[in-house]
Amino acid sequence: MGRTVVAGSAIPMSDLEKQAIKAEKTKQALDALLSFVSQVNHSDSINDATWHLAQHTTRSLDFVDCVVYLYEPKIQRLVQKAAYGPKNPKKRQVKNAIKLKVGEGIVGKAAATCESILINDTRLCDDYVVDDQARLSELAVPIHYHQKLIGVIDSENPETDFFTDFHRRYLEILASVLASKITFSSTIDELNTSYRSLQQAKTLSDTFLLISELNYHSASAEDFYSGLHKIIEKQVNTSSFFVVSFDTQNQLYSCPYWHDEKRGGEFDASIDHENMANTLIAEVINNQVPRLARAKELEHRIKNGKLINRGPKVYSWLAVPFKISESLQGAIALQSYDEDILFDDSDKEFLTFLAQHVSVVIDQKNKDNALQYQALHDSVTGLANRTLFLDRLEHAFSRYNRSSQPDMAVMFIDFDDFKAINDNFGHQIGDQVLATAAERMQKQLRSSDTLARIGGDEFAILLEDLENETMVMSISNRILEVMNTPIHTREEPILASVSIGISFRDEKVAVFEDMLKNADHAMYHAKRRGKNNIQLYEERIHQSILEERSLLHELKMALKENQLFFYYQPIIDLEKNRVSGFEALMRWMHPEKGLISPDKFIHIAEQYDLISQIDAKLLDSVAKQIKKMDVHEVLPVYISINISSQRFVDSKLITEIATTIHKYELPKHSIVVEVTEHVLMKNIAKARNLFHQLKLLGVKISLDDFGTGYSSLSYINQLPFDVIKIDRSFVSHIDENNLEHPVISVIVALAKTLKIELVAEGIETQCQLDALKALHCDFGQGFYLAKPMPASEVDSFLENQQKRLPSPSNQQTKKIS
Ligand code: C2E
Ligand code: CA
Ligand code: CA
Repeated sequence: MGRTVVAGSAIPMSDLEKQAIKAEKTKQALDALLSFVSQVNHSDSINDATWHLAQHTTRSLDFVDCVVYLYEPKIQRLVQKAAYGPKNPKKRQVKNAIKLKVGEGIVGKAAATCESILINDTRLCDDYVVDDQARLSELAVPIHYHQKLIGVIDSENPETDFFTDFHRRYLEILASVLASKITFSSTIDELNTSYRSLQQAKTLSDTFLLISELNYHSASAEDFYSGLHKIIEKQVNTSSFFVVSFDTQNQLYSCPYWHDEKRGGEFDASIDHENMANTLIAEVINNQVPRLARAKELEHRIKNGKLINRGPKVYSWLAVPFKISESLQGAIALQSYDEDILFDDSDKEFLTFLAQHVSVVIDQKNKDNALQYQALHDSVTGLANRTLFLDRLEHAFSRYNRSSQPDMAVMFIDFDDFKAINDNFGHQIGDQVLATAAERMQKQLRSSDTLARIGGDEFAILLEDLENETMVMSISNRILEVMNTPIHTREEPILASVSIGISFRDEKVAVFEDMLKNADHAMYHAKRRGKNNIQLYEERIHQSILEERSLLHELKMALKENQLFFYYQPIIDLEKNRVSGFEALMRWMHPEKGLISPDKFIHIAEQYDLISQIDAKLLDSVAKQIKKMDVHEVLPVYISINISSQRFVDSKLITEIATTIHKYELPKHSIVVEVTEHVLMKNIAKARNLFHQLKLLGVKISLDDFGTGYSSLSYINQLPFDVIKIDRSFVSHIDENNLEHPVISVIVALAKTLKIELVAEGIETQCQLDALKALHCDFGQGFYLAKPMPASEVDSFLENQQKRLPSPSNQQTKKIS
């Protein structure tokens, strides 16, 4: 029943009331607490949350104030973050924030111990520290998360015993809510920050990759910048983009890329150098500091002429500098005509990053270009090299491929005996000759023609858009002509003639490489025809060249297998009617083709540098032959050897001859060397020197094939010849019906005056023999006197020479006056 009583009116109303009020208060406090929790949860920042806590506490618990301190580990202080009270009714940053040491005062002590402290009467407490106003009670509740100090909530009251246990517990709940909010949101913040920086890093690294890729794929600078422009457009949202570069050495600005969304292609990107120096972009370039400018400043600058803007209003302008080298720097700039697109610091940062990489890329590109230039050009002449030439040839060839007109041609130019120039004067002079020759040739060409150095002494010219074939011929003739003037070098003037082969494109040419090959074949033919001339490619040339190539191959074998040897043809003293010497004449016993005469293979040996090997062989066999004759005591006879034009200017020749003479102890004047005037024309000073040295060695010099060249007479005056061999062509004119020989008479007279021995070559008849004797020609050589013979027959010929040589006919001699 008591229950009923209890339920009825057994408990006095005042207590019930008290309890109801308490319950109501608790409910209100809990409601407030819940609303606080949701408020804190939704607050954007820690500052926000601390302020809500201070405000909420003061209001819901009827406090006079509430202050929130947060611990800052960096300075190891509790710093006042939020305060609510009559003095601070509005949310704002705490000014002159109080900073407390941990352990200092009630707040510091609560922090140090991580325990709440409730002071009923501050006067009785030693730890109480007066801040701005002395209060009589205080409640300090620590904010911590798993014992890690975050801060302290503190409230003071002018009355004693104001704070209750309920207050303490209430604040402890608030503190734990705030603690988790702070811990949680700082983790989120950290995450956010790292996410943002990751995001940024990714954008930048993506951008860098794009730039590298762009650099790789763009064929021109224009391509590169326009690609760069696209990258920027995506990030910065504007389409006006400019690049200005500055050459510090020459103080010149240039504008490699300019895109203005308002004026597009109409804009004149040429640079006005005088005005340029005053502009904002020049300032950026010179100071090497990025610059962000807004409409107001820009307008001001435009008015003062410090910004060139002939178009609509610019709202925002951003430029960042780049530096490629000491001599090349520049800036990339953006411009916005849109009121809503205003560049900011993050754009500046992005562009700065971009500029750095752009400068790296440009620098690399410049270096690559230099390397590429080196890879495609010849360093001696500065001309295109073989690779570049073939590339251009291929392009031209594919361009013309469908036409049947002879619209393009290739000229192959090769120096005659260039090796001799290098051997005698050294490579430096050789290079100088090549460079001068290149200049001379270039002057004969149109700007559209390509002159290239495609090998050591080989040049090629690609001629496109030909009107007719005669044009090519006239260019070739001009080149021959300019090359026939000596080139002045440090040492002395050098005559460097060339041989030219020409091939035209026609429907029979299947691949572009064949054009060069055909021109090469034609050039080769020009050489065979006596050098210093021009040859057009024809199909028969191709055939003969094929034959020659196979002959070359066989000749190499012949050298290895000793198929080369000498025949000796006697040279007769016509007055005494006895042998005075022999001419060594090369023979090749080909295993299938039989005996081959030197006319068929000597030029190949010369062309392909086999001649020095042949000469070495010649010298050795000749020396042995001389020794053999020496043993038989049939001296004095000499052996005359033919020295090819190439070898005559080779300084090694002298050494080889000297070595042979010493090795075999050859008597003086037992060797005669025969040279043709062709050799001497090249370089008379060099020849004079060589003559001098040969004479010191006791070697005589004979001028072979005299009369076939056009300047023979001038040479016999300039060089100390011992012997002149009148060419067979003069002798062959002598017959019964033609006994007047004014040319031979003159030569005989000249030789006598100069005390030079005279040999008539190619005596084939008794008539010729008689005529020459009558003209007082000293010596003779020819089939009628004696044919070339193998070495094995020389001895017996010498022994029986009186019987073997034809006897003179007195009758015919008389006829000649
Ligand atoms: P070459 O120096 O003028 O030699 C004379 C050529 O005339 C030789 O031809 C010889 O056999 C030929 N011959 C001699 N008497 C008569 C004749 O009465 N009538 C005719 N029709 N020909 C006669 P071969 O031996 O065929 O040599 C041709 C050329 O080859 C030589 O002309 C010479 O320039 C060159 N040669 C020969 N041997 C050598 C050599 O060892 N080294 C070099 N570099 N050249 C050589
Ligand atoms: Ca000869
Ligand atoms: Ca001759």
